[in-house]
Amino acid sequence: MKVLVINCGSSSLKFQLIDSETEKVIAKGLCERIGIDGSLISYTPAGGEKESNVTPMADHTEAIRLVLEALCNPKTGVVKDLSEIDAVGHRIVHGGENFTSSTIIDEEVIKAIENCSELAPLHNPANLIGIRACQKLMPGVPMVAVFDTAFHQTMPEEAYCYGIPYEYYEKYKVRRYGFHGTSHSYVSKRAAEVLKKPYESLKIIVCHLGNGASVSAVKNGKCVDTSMGLTPLEGLVMGTRSGDVDPAVLEFIAHKENKSIDEVMNILNKKSGVLGLSNNLSSDFRDIEAGYLKLDANAVRAMKVFCYRVAKYIGAYTAAMNGVDVICFTAGVGENGPLVRNLICNYLGYLGITLDEEANNKRGEDIVISSQDSRTIVMTIPTNEELAIARDTVALVKK
Ligand code: AMP
Repeated sequence: MKVLVINCGSSSLKFQLIDSETEKVIAKGLCERIGIDGSLISYTPAGGEKESNVTPMADHTEAIRLVLEALCNPKTGVVKDLSEIDAVGHRIVHGGENFTSSTIIDEEVIKAIENCSELAPLHNPANLIGIRACQKLMPGVPMVAVFDTAFHQTMPEEAYCYGIPYEYYEKYKVRRYGFHGTSHSYVSKRAAEVLKKPYESLKIIVCHLGNGASVSAVKNGKCVDTSMGLTPLEGLVMGTRSGDVDPAVLEFIAHKENKSIDEVMNILNKKSGVLGLSNNLSSDFRDIEAGYLKLDANAVRAMKVFCYRVAKYIGAYTAAMNGVDVICFTAGVGENGPLVRNLICNYLGYLGITLDEEANNKRGEDIVISSQDSRTIVMTIPTNEELAIARDTVALVKK
């Protein structure tokens, strides 16, 4: 089957066409600045050149129309016509408590995703626009919704409840949900596969360290805790997000700087993390790493706080699972940052961890990076959320 995987952001749209038999990417690309001046589509067919075109895109329907046109282009396209696309898999950010797994999209599912929009006001509406646009342009093609939150729905009450009046959970479903679920699920399963061990018998900690970052604890194949919460702001220090702070910080800054709650939230989401900690040096870990190696005090501070927080979560999740067998690093920084992995693992001597320096310096492979005598296995596993979405889509459509 050929599956089109769509990931709609508020002004962007990532896509991949995947052959489900070979699990190879047939073509991929990105639409940027949708609805803004200077909209841009980039498109790369497998084995071909990347092409980028500035083209007006008033909305997501227009963007998807251009994606389909690119896929069917007689010269650079990869399908003869749209009938060759068998299904569409949509990444949906928030499924609330309604969705514990991926699901075929129908009107009822669309309503339920709409109902979760309050919990993800920037993401779910964009995801829905993507679904509606595909329905319009590809009528009758089956579509599947794959939720960022679904994998974490197995968390027990003690992990998902906040220590606030229970009525807010009862009235508004204020609780911890967790995100990056597709990645945590894919990476933890892949680790078991690579190690040739039964997934259901392992205690795995997945560190998804990208611009957004989260850690999860996966015990016997089920997520038992994760670091993001009601929103993706909780947990680790990220590119621009603060992660955990004392909630009183909000009130304190608001008073001192005469700012509204919305303004302070904007600071915590967009101006904090390693960007804020490094005194605005950068939110990009490549810059932070370069600064750290030059002993730039701002970069050193940002790097140290980032790595320490990851190590603390690993400790917490080792306790939550009464042990850990495997620690996996994934996403932009987790996959590409030997220095970050090293600095984090330096805290984990109590788990008997030693790294194999040569393996730790490799990139882009599913690989064990701990040394043979390490008591706990450490791995780098490149994440592949698009493939995971395509797999779920095929499984549901074939049913
Ligand atoms: P993601 O959100 O998963 O796409 O990850 C983005 C982050 O990964 C950015 O902060 C990048 O700087 C970081 N990243 C990408 N490549 C590298 C690299 N070679 N070394 C360190 N960090 C990297």
